[in-house]
Amino acid sequence: MFKTALTALLCVWALSAQTQSASKPNSLRFDINALDRSADPCVDFYQYACGTWMKNNAIPADHSSWGRFQELEERNHDVLHEILDGAAKPDANRDQVTREIGDYYGACMDQNAIDARGLDAIKPELDRIRNLKDNAQLAEEVAHLQRAGAGALFDFSSGQDFKDSTAVIAQLDQGGLGLPDRDYYLREDPKSVALRQQYLVHVQRMFELLGEKAEVAKARAETVMKIETALAKGSLDNVSRRDPEKVYHKMTKQELQALSPLFHWSQYLAAVGSPEFQGINVAWPDYIRALNAEIQSASLDDWMTYLTWHLLRAKSAFLPRKFAAESFDFYGKTLTGAKEQRPRWKRCVDFTDTELGEALGQKYVERTFGKEGKQRTLNMVDRLEKALGQDLQSVSWMTPATKQKAVQKLEAIKNKIGYPDHWRDYSSIAIKRDDPLGNSVRAYEFELQRQLNKIGKPVNRGEWEMSPPTVNAYYDPQMNDINFPAGILQPPFYDNDMDDAVNFGGIGVVIGHELTHGFDDQGRQFDASGNLKDWWTAEDSKEFDQREACVVKEYSKFTVAGVNVNGKLTLGENTADNGGARVALMALEADLANKTRPVIGGFTPEQRFFLSFGQVWCDNATDESQRMQVQTDPHSPARFRINGVVQNMPEFQKAFSCKAGQPMTPADVCHVW
Ligand SMILES: [Zn+2]
Repeated sequence: MFKTALTALLCVWALSAQTQSASKPNSLRFDINALDRSADPCVDFYQYACGTWMKNNAIPADHSSWGRFQELEERNHDVLHEILDGAAKPDANRDQVTREIGDYYGACMDQNAIDARGLDAIKPELDRIRNLKDNAQLAEEVAHLQRAGAGALFDFSSGQDFKDSTAVIAQLDQGGLGLPDRDYYLREDPKSVALRQQYLVHVQRMFELLGEKAEVAKARAETVMKIETALAKGSLDNVSRRDPEKVYHKMTKQELQALSPLFHWSQYLAAVGSPEFQGINVAWPDYIRALNAEIQSASLDDWMTYLTWHLLRAKSAFLPRKFAAESFDFYGKTLTGAKEQRPRWKRCVDFTDTELGEALGQKYVERTFGKEGKQRTLNMVDRLEKALGQDLQSVSWMTPATKQKAVQKLEAIKNKIGYPDHWRDYSSIAIKRDDPLGNSVRAYEFELQRQLNKIGKPVNRGEWEMSPPTVNAYYDPQMNDINFPAGILQPPFYDNDMDDAVNFGGIGVVIGHELTHGFDDQGRQFDASGNLKDWWTAEDSKEFDQREACVVKEYSKFTVAGVNVNGKLTLGENTADNGGARVALMALEADLANKTRPVIGGFTPEQRFFLSFGQVWCDNATDESQRMQVQTDPHSPARFRINGVVQNMPEFQKAFSCKAGQPMTPADVCHVW
């Protein structure tokens, strides 16, 4: 998926998951044999639900973590692989979409041709950078590289105006770093210091692969570090970025120019393909000031180094294989602890999904997703919405005035299920069988131009931010809609052959989670129409904040790989996990009220609900990837997405007959929704 400036506001179900499907025999369903029956569910429920699975599922060498999500991704890769292998076969009768994805994938797979071409493919781009004459050309080159998909200096795109959700405006956000987050440049602990050294070595090696001498390449790496550190210092931290008011600074083009007089915005905006606009949201003006200061202090030669690095970084996959291997060595091995690079075909499947997602998605949906999939999901959504409606009405701490507005907001939420009604048309992109780098550049140009063309136009509410094969879901607070790609609407999340309890613990919790995002610390700041507008009474806000403080405290105590979970960074997701589980269980109970209560495999419906919920997150992960997750991902690590929730639920303690004082029955419990 293309990440645009402020999509950080989208509340996705999980960060790492990408793709999956169902054309193979289904071994991925809820599994009683995954339990560790030697563990006590009241002491460590995650261990109980997943212990045997964890023991039997070592992390494959080409992964940094391995969980049920990744099992699904792998199966999905197999389906997409089949589709793309078939599509890549030269056949005069291929339809337009098949030709697009087949030629893109076929070109990507021809590593020998890429190696044979050497640096020729990228030479024109390198020359452009080398020949920059002044700061005006620098601004134009930044635009050119951004269009090509090389994230240099900042992110520029379009988005709904926070305060007027009917308007699409220009958006400018911080960016331009090679490490995962600003704090990677600023932390002083030994691991962070060592990682920066490894990053320097990596950047140096990439310049050496271009043919630079070791000393020159080393100096270039230091230049990159100097510029990126200055940009990092001007960036807003990831906790503050969760507050929409902090990343909303609407201004005119003249005001933007005044913030950064040394950057040639007019040249930039023309070169990037922006239409004229009245207002632009500059998410974090301090970042633009820092950028201006760096333009003053860095030489044009320094900027050429920085831009060359970001070009290499973004396009290493389409250069001779030693570039991708070096990139994996740092971004895969060092940063996340994976041991082997993924096979070429898996990477090319991912690139096709990222760059031509709705073309590949069409073929995926034709194979895997029927009408009944949409219908049964809508049915579940309906039951979850009813349960959340009851929950909103019944909480003790909210006044009737705010409750009424909350219910109105819930009723206004739109449901998007499976895939878009109108497929994106990629036919204007020239996709050439012998030009994989050019294909990637042109696909990114198409996408950025498509985003920029929206500025000043009415909002398109039918668009998706995820491709159909994605195993994920999201809530968009400005659209006030929930989105469930076809990829997640299958076992083990939804399984026709399983009892309701298992399905409510699977897809039911995911639906509940996304709906609850409308009412977490971030989502609650947007009203039913998607505007950033306070609809809460002061006393209700205070009560809400007190309950959220409890959640922050609870999750901040959890640690993995020697690092504490950041309770503030993960607050929205933890709130959604807790609310999602609670309302999914409410929906199950409503469903069971007039039925016999089946005991299956020795477990009651409530027990199977919680076990199903737990098993979605069975997972093993390297220390490196866990550290990175805790430092960058707004989702808590798998174990705490489960234990952190069940220990807040008396319903869980009752279901498993836990006693007071046991770890899953703490004295203090948190309850927002
Ligand atoms: Zn979420």
